[in-house]
Amino acid sequence: MRTTANMIILALCGLSWHTAFAQGMGGAGADTITQLTENVYRRGPTSNTFLVTDEGIIMVDATCSGGGMEWLKEELDRRFGVPVKYVILSHDHEMHICGLQVFDDTAVTIGHRNIREHLIRENRNTSIPDVVFEDEMEIFLGGHRAVLYYFGKTHSDNLIQVHFPEEGVLVATDIVRSGKSLGLPDFRDSDVDGVIDALYELSKLDNVDIVVPGHAGLADQQSFVYFREWTMALRERVYDEMLAGATIYEIVERVTMEDFSDYGNYEPWLRANVISMWDYLYRYREPSPGAPGSEGYQENWPIGFPIGGVNFAVQDEEE
Ligand SMILES: [Zn+2]
Repeated sequence: MRTTANMIILALCGLSWHTAFAQGMGGAGADTITQLTENVYRRGPTSNTFLVTDEGIIMVDATCSGGGMEWLKEELDRRFGVPVKYVILSHDHEMHICGLQVFDDTAVTIGHRNIREHLIRENRNTSIPDVVFEDEMEIFLGGHRAVLYYFGKTHSDNLIQVHFPEEGVLVATDIVRSGKSLGLPDFRDSDVDGVIDALYELSKLDNVDIVVPGHAGLADQQSFVYFREWTMALRERVYDEMLAGATIYEIVERVTMEDFSDYGNYEPWLRANVISMWDYLYRYREPSPGAPGSEGYQENWPIGFPIGGVNFAVQDEEE
Protein backbone atom coordinates (compact mmCIF):
# COMPACT_ATOMS: atom_id res chain seq x y z
CA MET A 1 0.00 0.00 0.00
CA ARG A 2 1.32 3.41 -0.85
CA THR A 3 0.00 6.20 1.31
CA THR A 4 1.03 9.76 0.60
CA ALA A 5 1.00 12.76 2.87
CA ASN A 6 -1.19 14.70 0.49
CA MET A 7 -3.88 12.04 0.44
CA ILE A 8 -4.03 12.02 4.21
CA ILE A 9 -4.23 15.78 4.48
CA LEU A 10 -6.98 15.90 1.87
CA ALA A 11 -8.96 13.26 3.73
CA LEU A 12 -8.56 15.08 7.03
CA CYS A 13 -9.50 18.45 5.58
CA GLY A 14 -12.08 17.43 3.00
CA LEU A 15 -15.27 18.37 4.78
CA SER A 16 -14.12 21.80 5.85
CA TRP A 17 -12.72 22.64 2.42
CA HIS A 18 -16.09 21.90 0.92
CA THR A 19 -17.78 24.13 3.48
CA ALA A 20 -15.33 26.92 2.77
CA PHE A 21 -15.89 26.63 -0.96
CA ALA A 22 -19.67 26.81 -0.59
CA GLN A 23 -19.39 29.91 1.59
CA GLY A 24 -17.23 31.66 -0.95
CA MET A 25 -19.52 31.26 -3.91
CA GLY A 26 -21.30 34.60 -3.66
CA GLY A 27 -24.78 33.54 -4.71
CA ALA A 28 -27.65 35.79 -3.67
CA GLY A 29 -26.66 39.43 -3.56
CA ALA A 30 -23.61 39.02 -5.78
CA ASP A 31 -24.79 41.91 -7.94
CA THR A 32 -25.71 44.26 -5.12
CA ILE A 33 -23.55 47.38 -5.39
CA THR A 34 -23.11 49.18 -2.06
CA GLN A 35 -21.66 52.66 -1.73
CA LEU A 36 -19.10 52.56 1.09
CA THR A 37 -17.84 56.15 0.98
CA GLU A 38 -18.20 59.17 -1.30
CA ASN A 39 -16.26 57.48 -4.11
CA VAL A 40 -15.80 53.81 -3.16
CA TYR A 41 -18.27 51.04 -3.92
CA ARG A 42 -18.42 47.31 -3.27
CA ARG A 43 -20.20 44.75 -5.39
CA GLY A 44 -21.75 41.85 -3.50
CA PRO A 45 -20.33 40.20 -0.40
CA THR A 46 -16.84 39.95 -1.90
CA SER A 47 -13.76 42.10 -2.27
CA ASN A 48 -14.99 43.35 -5.68
CA THR A 49 -14.42 47.01 -4.72
CA PHE A 50 -13.90 50.09 -6.88
CA LEU A 51 -13.06 53.77 -6.68
CA VAL A 52 -14.89 56.04 -9.10
CA THR A 53 -13.30 59.29 -10.34
CA ASP A 54 -14.11 61.75 -13.11
CA GLU A 55 -11.34 60.23 -15.23
CA GLY A 56 -12.16 56.59 -14.69
CA ILE A 57 -12.44 53.70 -12.26
CA ILE A 58 -9.88 51.76 -10.23
CA MET A 59 -11.19 48.21 -9.85
CA VAL A 60 -9.98 45.80 -7.16
CA ASP A 61 -10.85 42.12 -7.60
CA ALA A 62 -14.02 40.68 -9.11
CA THR A 63 -16.49 37.85 -8.93
CA CYS A 64 -18.00 35.86 -11.78
CA SER A 65 -21.02 35.11 -9.56
CA GLY A 66 -24.38 36.74 -10.22
CA GLY A 67 -24.61 38.47 -13.56
CA GLY A 68 -20.91 38.04 -14.21
CA MET A 69 -18.42 40.54 -15.51
CA GLU A 70 -20.28 41.55 -18.66
CA TRP A 71 -23.13 42.61 -16.41
CA LEU A 72 -20.76 44.60 -14.21
CA LYS A 73 -19.15 46.34 -17.17
CA GLU A 74 -22.52 47.45 -18.51
CA GLU A 75 -23.69 48.48 -15.04
CA LEU A 76 -20.60 50.63 -14.46
CA ASP A 77 -21.07 52.32 -17.80
CA ARG A 78 -24.74 52.95 -17.09
CA ARG A 79 -24.13 54.34 -13.60
CA PHE A 80 -20.91 56.28 -14.02
CA GLY A 81 -20.12 56.67 -17.73
CA VAL A 82 -16.35 56.42 -17.27
CA PRO A 83 -14.05 53.51 -18.20
CA VAL A 84 -12.17 51.22 -15.87
CA LYS A 85 -8.59 52.51 -16.10
CA TYR A 86 -6.86 50.23 -13.60
CA VAL A 87 -7.56 46.65 -12.57
CA ILE A 88 -5.80 45.45 -9.41
CA LEU A 89 -5.53 41.75 -8.54
CA SER A 90 -5.36 41.08 -4.78
CA HIS A 91 -3.82 37.62 -5.38
CA ASP A 92 -3.95 34.77 -7.84
CA HIS A 93 -6.87 32.76 -6.37
CA GLU A 94 -9.46 32.72 -9.12
CA MET A 95 -12.51 33.19 -6.92
CA HIS A 96 -11.36 36.78 -6.33
CA ILE A 97 -10.19 37.83 -9.76
CA CYS A 98 -12.54 35.98 -12.08
CA GLY A 99 -13.36 37.57 -15.43
CA LEU A 100 -11.38 40.78 -15.02
CA GLN A 101 -10.06 40.50 -18.59
CA VAL A 102 -13.38 42.08 -19.59
CA PHE A 103 -11.72 45.43 -18.84
CA ASP A 104 -8.57 44.78 -20.87
CA ASP A 105 -9.74 47.16 -23.60
CA THR A 106 -9.44 50.20 -21.32
CA ALA A 107 -7.50 49.16 -18.21
CA VAL A 108 -3.94 48.56 -17.11
CA THR A 109 -3.84 45.46 -14.91
CA ILE A 110 -1.58 45.46 -11.85
CA GLY A 111 -0.47 42.77 -9.40
CA HIS A 112 2.45 41.68 -7.29
CA ARG A 113 5.53 40.54 -9.21
CA ASN A 114 4.98 36.93 -8.02
CA ILE A 115 1.46 36.70 -9.43
CA ARG A 116 2.05 36.26 -13.15
CA GLU A 117 3.63 32.82 -12.95
CA HIS A 118 0.69 31.51 -10.89
CA LEU A 119 -1.92 33.02 -13.20
CA ILE A 120 -0.33 31.47 -16.25
CA ARG A 121 0.47 28.03 -14.81
CA GLU A 122 -2.94 27.70 -13.11
CA ASN A 123 -4.62 29.00 -16.26
CA ARG A 124 -6.68 31.45 -14.21
CA ASN A 125 -9.71 33.04 -15.80
CA THR A 126 -8.58 36.64 -15.39
CA SER A 127 -6.49 39.49 -16.78
CA ILE A 128 -2.70 39.01 -16.80
CA PRO A 129 -0.94 42.04 -15.24
CA ASP A 130 0.74 44.55 -17.51
CA VAL A 131 2.54 46.07 -14.53
CA VAL A 132 3.91 44.38 -11.42
CA PHE A 133 5.53 45.76 -8.28
CA GLU A 134 7.61 44.52 -5.36
CA ASP A 135 6.78 46.25 -2.05
CA GLU A 136 4.54 49.27 -2.55
CA MET A 137 2.97 51.23 -5.38
CA GLU A 138 0.80 54.32 -5.72
CA ILE A 139 -1.75 55.03 -8.44
CA PHE A 140 -3.17 58.48 -9.11
CA LEU A 141 -6.34 58.97 -11.11
CA GLY A 142 -8.72 61.92 -11.34
CA GLY A 143 -7.36 63.56 -8.21
CA HIS A 144 -7.64 60.35 -6.17
CA ARG A 145 -5.07 57.86 -4.94
CA ALA A 146 -4.69 54.15 -4.32
CA VAL A 147 -1.77 52.66 -2.39
CA LEU A 148 -0.84 49.01 -2.90
CA TYR A 149 1.04 47.14 -0.17
CA TYR A 150 2.90 43.84 -0.15
CA PHE A 151 3.98 42.61 3.28
CA GLY A 152 5.75 39.47 2.08
CA LYS A 153 4.46 35.92 1.71
CA THR A 154 1.20 35.53 3.60
CA HIS A 155 -1.90 33.92 2.11
CA SER A 156 -0.15 32.97 -1.17
CA ASP A 157 3.17 34.54 -2.15
CA ASN A 158 1.44 37.37 -4.01
CA LEU A 159 -1.34 38.73 -1.77
CA ILE A 160 -1.49 42.52 -1.66
CA GLN A 161 -3.76 45.01 0.06
CA VAL A 162 -5.24 48.07 -1.63
CA HIS A 163 -5.73 51.28 0.35
CA PHE A 164 -7.74 54.33 -0.61
CA PRO A 165 -6.35 56.55 2.19
CA GLU A 166 -8.45 59.64 1.46
CA GLU A 167 -11.58 57.48 1.56
CA GLY A 168 -10.49 55.53 4.66
CA VAL A 169 -11.03 52.21 2.87
CA LEU A 170 -8.65 49.25 2.91
CA VAL A 171 -9.34 46.22 0.71
CA ALA A 172 -7.80 43.24 2.54
CA THR A 173 -8.82 40.12 0.68
CA ASP A 174 -8.47 36.70 2.33
CA ILE A 175 -6.54 37.79 5.41
CA VAL A 176 -9.42 38.85 7.64
CA ARG A 177 -13.15 38.40 8.22
CA SER A 178 -15.75 40.65 9.75
CA GLY A 179 -15.70 41.11 13.52
CA LYS A 180 -14.10 38.55 15.83
CA SER A 181 -13.54 35.62 13.52
CA LEU A 182 -11.11 33.10 12.13
CA GLY A 183 -9.80 34.84 9.05
CA LEU A 184 -9.18 31.80 6.86
CA PRO A 185 -10.79 28.37 6.46
CA ASP A 186 -7.30 26.86 6.67
CA PHE A 187 -3.67 27.75 5.99
CA ARG A 188 -3.29 26.20 2.54
CA ASP A 189 -1.02 28.25 0.28
CA SER A 190 -0.03 30.28 3.32
CA ASP A 191 3.08 31.35 5.19
CA VAL A 192 1.72 31.45 8.73
CA ASP A 193 4.51 33.58 10.19
CA GLY A 194 4.09 35.99 7.32
CA VAL A 195 0.35 36.16 8.01
CA ILE A 196 1.04 36.98 11.68
CA ASP A 197 3.48 39.76 10.75
CA ALA A 198 1.20 41.24 8.09
CA LEU A 199 -1.81 41.25 10.42
CA TYR A 200 0.20 43.40 12.81
CA GLU A 201 1.16 45.86 10.07
CA LEU A 202 -2.41 46.06 8.79
CA SER A 203 -3.78 46.69 12.27
CA LYS A 204 -1.46 49.71 12.59
CA LEU A 205 -2.07 51.42 9.23
CA ASP A 206 -3.29 55.01 9.40
CA ASN A 207 -6.41 56.25 7.60
CA VAL A 208 -8.44 53.06 7.75
CA ASP A 209 -12.09 53.33 8.76
CA ILE A 210 -13.49 50.45 6.72
CA VAL A 211 -11.81 47.14 5.93
CA VAL A 212 -13.25 45.18 2.99
CA PRO A 213 -12.56 41.44 3.44
CA GLY A 214 -12.64 38.91 0.62
CA HIS A 215 -15.97 37.51 1.78
CA ALA A 216 -19.05 38.51 3.78
CA GLY A 217 -19.51 41.57 5.99
CA LEU A 218 -17.25 44.59 6.38
CA ALA A 219 -14.53 44.62 9.01
CA ASP A 220 -12.32 47.11 10.81
CA GLN A 221 -8.73 47.02 12.04
CA GLN A 222 -9.71 45.27 15.28
CA SER A 223 -10.56 42.26 13.14
CA PHE A 224 -6.85 41.97 12.21
CA VAL A 225 -6.03 41.92 15.92
CA TYR A 226 -8.57 39.17 16.60
CA PHE A 227 -7.34 36.96 13.79
CA ARG A 228 -3.73 37.53 14.80
CA GLU A 229 -4.48 36.46 18.37
CA TRP A 230 -6.15 33.31 17.07
CA THR A 231 -3.30 32.47 14.71
CA MET A 232 -0.56 33.04 17.29
CA ALA A 233 -2.35 30.96 19.94
CA LEU A 234 -3.06 28.15 17.49
CA ARG A 235 0.55 28.12 16.32
CA GLU A 236 1.90 27.88 19.87
CA ARG A 237 -0.52 25.15 20.94
CA VAL A 238 0.07 22.95 17.90
CA TYR A 239 3.82 23.53 18.24
CA ASP A 240 3.77 22.56 21.92
CA GLU A 241 2.00 19.31 21.07
CA MET A 242 4.50 18.52 18.32
CA LEU A 243 7.39 19.15 20.70
CA ALA A 244 5.75 16.74 23.13
CA GLY A 245 5.67 14.10 20.39
CA ALA A 246 1.92 14.11 19.70
CA THR A 247 0.69 12.73 16.39
CA ILE A 248 -1.59 14.73 14.13
CA TYR A 249 -4.52 12.59 15.31
CA GLU A 250 -3.76 13.45 18.93
CA ILE A 251 -3.27 17.12 18.09
CA VAL A 252 -6.67 17.35 16.40
CA GLU A 253 -8.23 15.91 19.56
CA ARG A 254 -6.29 18.05 22.04
CA VAL A 255 -6.06 21.48 20.41
CA THR A 256 -9.68 22.54 20.86
CA MET A 257 -9.10 26.31 21.19
CA GLU A 258 -12.17 26.45 23.41
CA ASP A 259 -11.26 29.85 24.82
CA PHE A 260 -11.75 31.14 21.24
CA SER A 261 -15.11 29.43 20.73
CA ASP A 262 -16.88 32.81 20.50
CA TYR A 263 -15.02 33.48 17.25
CA GLY A 264 -16.98 33.40 14.02
CA ASN A 265 -16.36 30.27 11.92
CA TYR A 266 -14.90 28.48 14.96
CA GLU A 267 -16.99 25.36 14.44
CA PRO A 268 -16.59 24.77 10.71
CA TRP A 269 -12.95 25.86 10.39
CA LEU A 270 -11.25 24.71 13.62
CA ARG A 271 -10.28 21.26 12.36
CA ALA A 272 -8.79 22.41 9.07
CA ASN A 273 -7.02 25.28 10.85
CA VAL A 274 -5.37 22.82 13.26
CA ILE A 275 -4.39 20.34 10.54
CA SER A 276 -2.97 22.94 8.19
CA MET A 277 -1.10 24.61 11.07
CA TRP A 278 0.45 21.22 11.87
CA ASP A 279 1.35 20.84 8.19
CA TYR A 280 3.02 24.27 8.22
CA LEU A 281 4.99 23.51 11.38
CA TYR A 282 5.98 20.08 10.07
CA ARG A 283 7.85 21.89 7.32
CA TYR A 284 9.21 24.43 9.81
CA ARG A 285 11.00 22.10 12.24
CA GLU A 286 12.76 18.78 12.67
CA PRO A 287 12.38 16.74 15.84
CA SER A 288 15.32 15.17 17.66
CA PRO A 289 15.69 11.38 17.31
CA GLY A 290 16.65 10.84 20.94
CA ALA A 291 19.59 8.74 22.11
CA PRO A 292 19.87 5.25 20.54
CA GLY A 293 18.44 2.66 22.90
CA SER A 294 16.60 5.20 25.03
CA GLU A 295 12.84 5.25 25.49
CA GLY A 296 11.26 7.18 22.62
CA TYR A 297 14.22 6.68 20.31
CA GLN A 298 12.94 6.91 16.74
CA GLU A 299 14.77 4.23 14.84
CA ASN A 300 13.57 5.37 11.46
CA TRP A 301 14.24 9.02 12.06
CA PRO A 302 14.37 11.20 10.02
CA ILE A 303 13.05 9.38 6.94
CA GLY A 304 9.35 9.46 6.06
CA PHE A 305 6.22 11.18 7.22
CA PRO A 306 5.30 10.22 10.78
CA ILE A 307 1.51 10.43 10.94
CA GLY A 308 -0.03 8.44 13.74
CA GLY A 309 3.36 7.15 14.80
CA VAL A 310 3.64 5.13 11.58
CA ASN A 311 6.42 5.84 9.19
CA PHE A 312 4.70 5.13 5.90
CA ALA A 313 7.65 5.69 3.61
CA VAL A 314 9.91 3.26 5.45
CA GLN A 315 7.09 0.74 5.84
CA ASP A 316 6.49 0.78 2.09
CA GLU A 317 10.11 0.01 1.35
CA GLU A 318 10.16 -2.91 3.76
CA GLU A 319 7.14 -4.60 2.18
ZN1 LIG B 1 -7.24 33.32 -1.47
